[in-house]
Amino acid sequence: MPTTTPGHPSDAHRPDHDPSGPLPLAAGVAAAAQVARAADHDGEVATYIAPLAEVDPSRFALAVSELDGTEHLDGDVEVPFAIQSVSKVYSLVLALQAADAGSGVEEELWCRVGREPSGDPFNSLVQLERERGLPRNPMINAGALVVDDVLLDHLDDPVAATCELLSELCGEDIGLDERVLRAEQGSSHRNRSLAHLMADFGNLRNDVEVVLDSYIGACAIAMSSRQLARATRFLANGGIDPASGRRVLAPPLARRVAAVMLTCGTYDAAGEFAFSVGLPCKSGVAGSIVALVPGRLAACAWSPPLDPAGNSVAGRIALHELAERCELSVF
Ligand code: GLN
Repeated sequence: MPTTTPGHPSDAHRPDHDPSGPLPLAAGVAAAAQVARAADHDGEVATYIAPLAEVDPSRFALAVSELDGTEHLDGDVEVPFAIQSVSKVYSLVLALQAADAGSGVEEELWCRVGREPSGDPFNSLVQLERERGLPRNPMINAGALVVDDVLLDHLDDPVAATCELLSELCGEDIGLDERVLRAEQGSSHRNRSLAHLMADFGNLRNDVEVVLDSYIGACAIAMSSRQLARATRFLANGGIDPASGRRVLAPPLARRVAAVMLTCGTYDAAGEFAFSVGLPCKSGVAGSIVALVPGRLAACAWSPPLDPAGNSVAGRIALHELAERCELSVF
């Protein structure tokens, strides 16, 4: 059943909804979830590790968290899953924070990882070889490994720091899915290849195994869609956590993270996402997709079956329907 929980009292006094205009969020979430559920058996769940292969493909959740704290929830919004590549957003946030306070984001980060869409699968080795170990962007695996390498120059335990940040942002304790962690540790041959290739080109400074541990740990962070939506609101709010007022990231850097999510967050389907959803998004291989509506809200859709690019099929439909019905596109 869809539920809406109110946030700030001032939000209760809204002008009446114009029936010819956008749907209110509560109705938009319910309608989007209903349409997307019909597609929740399209696509294939990830099978490279048992904990993902064994997940119930009919799980579905859509969570919207407004900046004032109002939540609109539908489906399995409390069920935790491994956030996988969605963690690349928070690792990038922490690396930008650290580099901004250190010798600067250009010098520490952007000279080692680009911000162009790759047009290749998220774990492709080909481009990395051709482009001499410089990953196209921080939203693909190779780019995230460089981001983790930057983090290791500043933090003893980047995974613990990421969990700490996410716990603060959603106001609940966030930890790892130990089963996913162990399975990924035993099966990361391709990520290991990416890391060694970049080390060979001189684009990793820390020990390859330590960088990989950090990367794999971040992928295994377990959160529900409600928690993810809540924790991502600061990126829709100029880098400021709307719950505490704390500036997590300087506004220009928060804009850059959103820009990279829009252009690269859904891999070689980023063009299709910009076209059909029109919001900065980041997907993970366990079937979640987070999305931002600047100045208004963050959302998370979750459905495990994926399209060939590795994005949740029903998740994309849910975000498309929500953005259309409530007129949320940034364009
Ligand atoms: N753990 C996965 C990997 O490294 C994450 C990829 C993803 O979510 N797209 O391959």
